[in-house]
Amino acid sequence: MKVAKFGGTSLANAEQIKKVCSIVRADQDRRLVVVSAPGKRFKDDTKVTDLLINYAERYLETGEATAEKQAILGRYQEIVAELHLPVEVGAQIEAELDEVLSNEKRLSPDRFMDAVKAAGEDTCAKVIAQYLRSLGEEAHYINPQEAGMLVTDEVGNAHVLPEAYEKLSTLRSGSGISVFPGFFGFTKTGNLVTFSRGGSDITGSILAAAVKADVYENFTDVDSVYVVNPNLIAHPVEVKEITYREMRELSYSGFGVFHEEALIPAYQANIPVCIKNTNNPVAPGTMIVSEPPVSTKRVSGIASDSGFCSIYVSKYLMNKEIGFGRKLLQILEEEYLSYEHTPSGIDNISVILRERDLTADKEQRIVERIQSELRVDDISVTHGLALVMIVGEGMRQSVGTTARATAALASAKINLEMINQGSSEVSMMFGVKSEEADRAVIALYQEFFGCEENEQAATAHQASSVMV
Ligand code: ASP
Repeated sequence: MKVAKFGGTSLANAEQIKKVCSIVRADQDRRLVVVSAPGKRFKDDTKVTDLLINYAERYLETGEATAEKQAILGRYQEIVAELHLPVEVGAQIEAELDEVLSNEKRLSPDRFMDAVKAAGEDTCAKVIAQYLRSLGEEAHYINPQEAGMLVTDEVGNAHVLPEAYEKLSTLRSGSGISVFPGFFGFTKTGNLVTFSRGGSDITGSILAAAVKADVYENFTDVDSVYVVNPNLIAHPVEVKEITYREMRELSYSGFGVFHEEALIPAYQANIPVCIKNTNNPVAPGTMIVSEPPVSTKRVSGIASDSGFCSIYVSKYLMNKEIGFGRKLLQILEEEYLSYEHTPSGIDNISVILRERDLTADKEQRIVERIQSELRVDDISVTHGLALVMIVGEGMRQSVGTTARATAALASAKINLEMINQGSSEVSMMFGVKSEEADRAVIALYQEFFGCEENEQAATAHQASSVMV
């Protein structure tokens, strides 16, 4: 059994939905299908989820959002008409959507927002099931509450509850094709709550783990994961196989292909994940697996993410002061801040945080407390940092990766604010000024993949000459 999840661009309009349904019908093992809400049809288009958020915000603010509502209904009307679904089906889908959008009186503002956001995938799943039925398939829309998608009560940021898996496992024996809306679940008391943005990937992974799927196929709009952001390097090297650990590190540091929380359920149940392209389903895609391939390369990918800041603290004999680290981190905990990394020296330590979490007043309070309670010699806060990460299981066995990386960065004249090697040795991280991050990534790519890119281009050239 395969669980196949389709992202927003795969469902953006009727033409894309037809591709999705032919992919599902082409393989009898694709019996559990998870869908996102319709995404962007073209570059400057708006995703249905964003239209829904605009609607809810406006409605909560002014009590009226007719234009916003029409924009949402319009997207579905267009899809239903172009799929030639019967008029009654269109009317029913619209009535159900309309009901959710008018639910504000019953719900608190944050619950209303989650209910409205979830309507994007819920409606989409109903449309897909209808369309598959119109093609003669036995297809069912699955209601996540009835199916047992139990989640924590964290509005806009839910997490699956362990007890959800048992009930969800019964989906394995469902007949025909089950179409499950991604992105949301229900609390034990019956409240609808969404996962964080992009969370349909999480739904797919939970379901794949629950039904013990042979593979979790995640269909998106690229042929594979690339070793680097393709917006920075034209035609970068493709990743054929990558481990969960490597993917986790890359998703953390800005790889947008797969939601960072979505790996956990598949990883724990040891379900391989295959990233595939709806627009080119014959391409093999990228497999995410537990064990590294035999011919382990040292570096599997390079990524960067900006929006970090660092609190640098120094105090002579810090290494001998029992409890210093705990007291420092406790000050952050008391400000409800989670930290990302803590590179340290004998008499100094830096704590790296997400910039969006460190508001100006928190920063001031924290600096004052560290100065007065820990009596440090020096403290400073640096903003505007990016973390550039090289990731690869192979780094553990090979010598000289850091030397190559730092030499490449030095010859690109990039000043390193920080170096940190993860304890698992799967990743190495460089802190640089945000404005230098892209250049750093390009320099590292040239160093570790420059030759391979030439080989890839040569193979493609040979293949096309043979075809000629
Ligand atoms: N539609 C939701 C979002 O845009 C969830 C998803 O697409 O995975 O965030």
